[in-house]
Amino acid sequence: MSAQPVPSVPHAPPRALRTVVHKFGGTSVADAARFRHVASLLLARDETVQATVVSAMKGVTDALIDLCNLSAAGSEEWRERWHELRARHRGAAVSLLGEDSGPVIEWLDERFDKLKAILEALVVIGGLPHEVLERVQGLGEICSARLLGEYLKAQGEDCAVLDARDVLVVERSDLGVVVDWETSAAKLSAWRERNPQPRVVITGFVARDRNGGFATLGRNGSDYSGAIFAALFNADELHIWTDVDGVLSADPRVVPEAVQLSALSYDEACELAYFGAKVVHPQTMAPAIERGLPIIIRNTFHPEHPGTRITAERDQSGPVKGLTLSPDLAIVNLEGTGLIGVPGTAERVFAALRNARVSVVMISQGSSEHSICCVVKSGEAARARTALLDAFAHELHIGQIQRVQATDGVSVLAAVGDGMAGSPGVAARLFESLGRARVNILAIAQGSSERNISVAIDSRDATKALRAAHAGFWLSPQTFAVGVIGPGNVGATLLDQLRAAQPQLLGKANLDLRLCAVASSRKMLLDARGIAGDWRERFDATADQTDLDRFTAHLLESHLPHVVIVDCSASGEVAERYAGWLAAGIHVVTPNKQAGSGSRARFDAIADAAATSGARFRYEATVGAGLPVISTLRDLLDTGDEIVAIEGIFSGTLAWLFNKFDGSVPFSQLVAEARSLGYTEPDPRDDLSGVDVARKLTILAREAGHALSLEDVQVESLVPEALRGGSVDEFLARLTEVDAGFSERLQRAKAEGKVLRYVAKLDAAGRASVGLVELPDNHAFAKLRLTDNIVQFSTRRYRDNPLIVQGPGAGAEVTAAGVFADLLRVAAGQGAKL
Ligand code: ADP
Ligand code: ASP
Ligand code: MG
Repeated sequence: MSAQPVPSVPHAPPRALRTVVHKFGGTSVADAARFRHVASLLLARDETVQATVVSAMKGVTDALIDLCNLSAAGSEEWRERWHELRARHRGAAVSLLGEDSGPVIEWLDERFDKLKAILEALVVIGGLPHEVLERVQGLGEICSARLLGEYLKAQGEDCAVLDARDVLVVERSDLGVVVDWETSAAKLSAWRERNPQPRVVITGFVARDRNGGFATLGRNGSDYSGAIFAALFNADELHIWTDVDGVLSADPRVVPEAVQLSALSYDEACELAYFGAKVVHPQTMAPAIERGLPIIIRNTFHPEHPGTRITAERDQSGPVKGLTLSPDLAIVNLEGTGLIGVPGTAERVFAALRNARVSVVMISQGSSEHSICCVVKSGEAARARTALLDAFAHELHIGQIQRVQATDGVSVLAAVGDGMAGSPGVAARLFESLGRARVNILAIAQGSSERNISVAIDSRDATKALRAAHAGFWLSPQTFAVGVIGPGNVGATLLDQLRAAQPQLLGKANLDLRLCAVASSRKMLLDARGIAGDWRERFDATADQTDLDRFTAHLLESHLPHVVIVDCSASGEVAERYAGWLAAGIHVVTPNKQAGSGSRARFDAIADAAATSGARFRYEATVGAGLPVISTLRDLLDTGDEIVAIEGIFSGTLAWLFNKFDGSVPFSQLVAEARSLGYTEPDPRDDLSGVDVARKLTILAREAGHALSLEDVQVESLVPEALRGGSVDEFLARLTEVDAGFSERLQRAKAEGKVLRYVAKLDAAGRASVGLVELPDNHAFAKLRLTDNIVQFSTRRYRDNPLIVQGPGAGAEVTAAGVFADLLRVAAGQGAKL
């Protein structure tokens, strides 16, 4: 953006000892109490000349504009609103001035009577002439300046009130409102001769045009008024008082963790303001630049805070100081092969847009010159398109230009900082953050000043994009919206681990894993701000019925850069959702074996969805709980190793049974003992059938690249046919029937110096089997601790001396930790500094 022409103010008074201009925004003068607070701030300051520019009371400008629109549309509703507005001002006057408020109330009533007459006239006209709007919308400032001035006088202060329309003359131009400095300065100095008081209260926002008509400086224009009067008063400083601690790295309403900036250069402030940082009006800096007038943005509610100092000084820290969003824009795209290499096309585009009085926010042209794209205000898009269709009618007719398109619903995200110049990688970091958050970039522009990179994006992505970019520049933590399904044994443990690790993750890794949703099969708890503290208490209290569609929508609507769902259920129904979630960019982490070992078609759909969207699917804890089994396998394959065989003991229950089974106690008794120790599933047949082991082997086989399904695994069930039906109790009662068989197998093995182990095996050809085998008693699988799992990878590199992963392969703590580790890997993959 180019700087505005810098004014030199003729007839400006010589600088008095210390002249400071203050500007108070609407939030600072919302009601009588705030007026009193402002007065106390002003009176506490020791300044030789103190000029104070005030906005209308909070919301008043909007209310006045509404009044105009209502009456112009013929709605009688304006009458009640007009009463309310008058009452609000009268109330403030009475509260501020007490029994002395009579004359001010009379003055207010006169203003409001005039307003009423105007509104009645609008009803008759049935329209809203611009001049009338300009006149009415400035009334709030006229009133608030008078209220503050009278209150200061009532405190015994020598103070004058200046209606800016008596001195400030402006002209509307393409660049915004331009001040007639000469006339304004002359008028002010004449006014000062009549009103030499050390304190002056001035109306913000309002002015007059050269013909004496009513004018305003545009919405948020009181900041600009402050800067204009700072120039006209030849002030030492301009203090802009608002409701935040200064300029923040992003709009705090969108990015709550935005950080305060202690200093900005004029250029940076201009860019931020121009691209939508509402905290200061974009034209404010211009009058300050030439005279090097410092602008200090500070908080009325927190006056001891130093605020943000805006000066000519550049500091190269950064590289990005702040990020902004400009909403309500559209892209107009001119496209055609006939544009290639034709000089002057861009010039014709701009001339056409200029003639149609369309202001261009951003332009971008690819080096192929096949298209030129402009970002314009939504309301001007249709006009822009028509202008281009007209201007290039001939080229369109002969097919040199194929189309002129306008796309609405666009926002521009801008990253601003003086430190960006000559600092490589800034754009890359921005695009990377946006890419990871799955924000599609429609157009890109970087000014040659390298102080600003702007990207046009779909407005629906705007909030997420701003948050992601803010986190990408380490200005705020990498934030993930986390949803946990199945707060049972493993799920609950994970939630506790998550909570305990949160402070450290935030402090050390700048990672915010924000728990936004918890669902069991019956009920769920949703909270966009994050479920802090004791999740159990809140989950127990919720009565919201589980609805996974709503659960998903809730996480997506958090507009956080990343969303991850952790499925700690054992449900096939939940697994059915993975592909959809992944396709929507939601990462999925799970210890649930359903997807990994379920139907091949579903597994492939999940893998495809993840590959297409870039979202991650991780399920390390499905095999060996917290042991790094799948990640080890992946590392081997990714580094080019070849799998010769994978073998192991994947069931803690079966490991325990065969470690214990030495013939001294019948097998059935060991099963009963394991069950009472909680080592088995409620129905021990789930362990003894070998299916769980086969599922784990299926997962590993698929991971190793074999198109295998559970049915392809040859499974030796330890449950005889005869015992497969019937209840658990019947099964346990008849289990002694297996004792003779097991005892016989054990004796046979022992005779050869061998032991029995329940082993899973996958060979290089993808043949998979699980079953009871005899192993030499010095085999790695023979000497396990009681319930340990073991996985042995024989590979080209680890052929003679296989790679072994061994340790506890079950239990809530270690399984949850395995899931947590996956979650952190997903975060690291999205740029978290782990
Ligand atoms: P005032 O009435 O004082 O002029 P405004 O509402 O016009 O106040 O501007 C202040 C508001 O601007 C803040 O409350 C904040 O919500 C918003 N804002 C948007 N972007 C930023 C930013 N980058 N830094 C600080 N505030 C911002
Ligand atoms: N009251 C005006 C507005 O709301 C000007 C200002 O407050 O800056 O736009
Ligand atoms: Mg403002």
